[in-house]
Amino acid sequence: MTKRLLLRDIYHLVSGANAPRQRGVDLIIDCDKGVIADIGESLPRGDAEVIDCSTKLVIPGLVNTHHHMYQTLQRNIPVVQNVELFDWLKKLYPIWSHLDAETVITSTLLACAELLKTGCTTTTDHHYVFPRSVSENLIALQASSAKKIGIRFAPTRGSMSRGEEDGGLPPQSLVQDEDTILAQSEALIAKLHDESPLSMCRLALAPCSPFSVSAELMQKTADLARAHGVRLHTHLAETLDEEHYCQEQHGCRPLALMESWGWLGSDVWYAHGIHFNDEELDLLARTQTGVAHCPTSNMRLGSGIARIPEMIDAGIGLGLGVDGSASNDSSDMLGELRNCLLLQRVQKGADAINAEQVLELGTRGGAQLLGWSEIGTLERGKGADLAIFEMARLDYAGALSDPLAAIIFSGSSHLVDTTIVNGPRHPHR
Ligand SMILES: [Zn+2]
Repeated sequence: MTKRLLLRDIYHLVSGANAPRQRGVDLIIDCDKGVIADIGESLPRGDAEVIDCSTKLVIPGLVNTHHHMYQTLQRNIPVVQNVELFDWLKKLYPIWSHLDAETVITSTLLACAELLKTGCTTTTDHHYVFPRSVSENLIALQASSAKKIGIRFAPTRGSMSRGEEDGGLPPQSLVQDEDTILAQSEALIAKLHDESPLSMCRLALAPCSPFSVSAELMQKTADLARAHGVRLHTHLAETLDEEHYCQEQHGCRPLALMESWGWLGSDVWYAHGIHFNDEELDLLARTQTGVAHCPTSNMRLGSGIARIPEMIDAGIGLGLGVDGSASNDSSDMLGELRNCLLLQRVQKGADAINAEQVLELGTRGGAQLLGWSEIGTLERGKGADLAIFEMARLDYAGALSDPLAAIIFSGSSHLVDTTIVNGPRHPHR
């Protein structure tokens, strides 16, 4: 096996958002340690395997902060092509009730492969469907699938416990007993969660949403996560239907509900976060609570436009997520950067957000939400997670005055040349 990898004569190196760009430098990876050993001009090759990068853009590997990988097998379902979230969920629940171990393995491999091919080196997944007929440990199967394909993985143990009979949205057949959820969550932390600096797997706990779990499960899940030092994730402020549901059922807005349940803090990140008011953005900033922005899904479901420029100004932790493939309908991570850039401009004008800011969300911002400070930038001693793009391509012709912005503004294909995760390379020609 290759011990060292030398990226030779890099055409354009972006070590992080707003960092000085470098041209013609080399980058050496220590594949055993999974770290960047050195960056500089004309580094000695020694016994390293060489990748000629004279026409290539090298950026930090992208980080995906929200997904439902099982949905890669339910893309583009006709009955939910043109409906909003609550109807979309009600029509998909019966399909999801047939999910089994084989579909979870297949869909995880498929989603991870698509993510790797579009520049993503670290991903989470929010799996919350556990049909009663399935006895296998689905999250453990996901973790082994991600390990097999070689992506850095932050699975979450999702949950639904409040069915239609108790005022929730999901059918009774898809909700679980809360003692079972908590016991399985604790067992998974012991089995999968690795705190080491360059860990390849870190678990988080993720009750699905305010309309599918009880207050008691939210509070007990937060207590369990904090007792073990794992992170917390859930859907929040995605739609106005959710806001109305919270007002009717609990007499308050979604974020106030989360606050009352102890779900604020630097160990919490929400998916979507579209419908926050000014006071709520201030609360998120003060408590360092993070948000995974999912622009493609938000457009697809007509959910709204998250207030990303205001969130950046407020210093709120932000990442990007492709969201589940039944509402995207792909795991195209680079495409998510482009849609983030374009969507904000629809509402707020051409200077709403720039390519460097989008890169920050898609790399270091996402890594911080998932709890990895060792990845997200390319520096000596940091994790060797990189995405390499061939720039001598028809669809980048004329765009190379700014090669980083070229992959966000231009391109008819979002496929990388190579991704490297923790040292080993994954070519994608
Ligand atoms: Zn989601």
